[in-house]
Amino acid sequence: MTTHREPLSSVLETIGETPLVEVAAAPDAVPVYAKLESFNPGASVKDRIGLYICRGLLQRGDLESGGTIIEPTAGNTGIGMALAAGQLDLEAVFVVPERFSVEKQDLMAALGAEIVNTPTEEGMGGAIDRAHELAAEQDDAVVPQQFASELNVEAHYETTGPEIHGALDGEVGAVVMGCGTAGTLMGTARYLLERRPDTRVVAVEPEGSVFRQALGDEPDGGEYRTEGIGTHDADRNELFDPALVDELVGVPDEAAHAEVQRLAREEGHLVASSAGAASVAARDVAEAIAAGELDVPYDSVVTMFPDSSERYLSKDIYGSFAEWNP
Ligand code: PMP
Repeated sequence: MTTHREPLSSVLETIGETPLVEVAAAPDAVPVYAKLESFNPGASVKDRIGLYICRGLLQRGDLESGGTIIEPTAGNTGIGMALAAGQLDLEAVFVVPERFSVEKQDLMAALGAEIVNTPTEEGMGGAIDRAHELAAEQDDAVVPQQFASELNVEAHYETTGPEIHGALDGEVGAVVMGCGTAGTLMGTARYLLERRPDTRVVAVEPEGSVFRQALGDEPDGGEYRTEGIGTHDADRNELFDPALVDELVGVPDEAAHAEVQRLAREEGHLVASSAGAASVAARDVAEAIAAGELDVPYDSVVTMFPDSSERYLSKDIYGSFAEWNP
């Protein structure tokens, strides 16, 4: 287990064991606890899978030392993977559509990764195709595929789930988390459900996202600005398992954005829009439990704040809703 009270030999040892802090605005009778993932060295939840996937590929023999990971990603996953790859003697290449945030690409490059840009109009699909083409040109390259890799779920089953369970002595009534790849929620929920099958599991997406297609609905879908969670094509989110989910909540961008600003002003949390959405949904679940509307094993709710607002200052995250421009 990581401890911050003695010297560590590598930055990789500081990944995980993040703080769990009460959200003050939740009802007294049903506390909401948020796991603060910006405490990781790459400042997001994705450091966990970066390390776990790189180590897992080496252990399985899918990659040799000195080999290359090639991942289509525009975001935190690239930073987490670049961080781990750099320390584990792997090369990292990230294929990123041009329009994506320059800050994140700069951080990946600073960590030693190579960035390959693809045309904006080809979208994430173009980046995925290019990553596979590049991997096919090299013998010692692997495309980890965070959207399909069981290692993504396992990272959270092995770390996030046990950390939450341990911090609350197993007394978790509901787990409420945003879904992008859904690795975080699936791994955490699996761990908690094995210990308390009646733990309530709530998935969070921005309004406009279509995760509910996986539940058999036919949502309209639309654009949304909340970053890091949601999907426009639920078939791509192979890790999302509806059988583990009791409820799927859609949070409007405007509510997520207002909560980001409230969390900073009132509670000192510098967190981004996916945390805002998670907080809104987690507080609603806590209110419903407090009102006796939901049956849960314990009067407590756990959520996650995946990264920091500092990564989105250039997008005016602290401006008016109209100015906010992801
Ligand atoms: N929030 C942010 C800011 C993210 O980058 C991600 C990862 N896409 C998530 C939430 C969701 O995590 P997951 O992919 O594990 O569902």
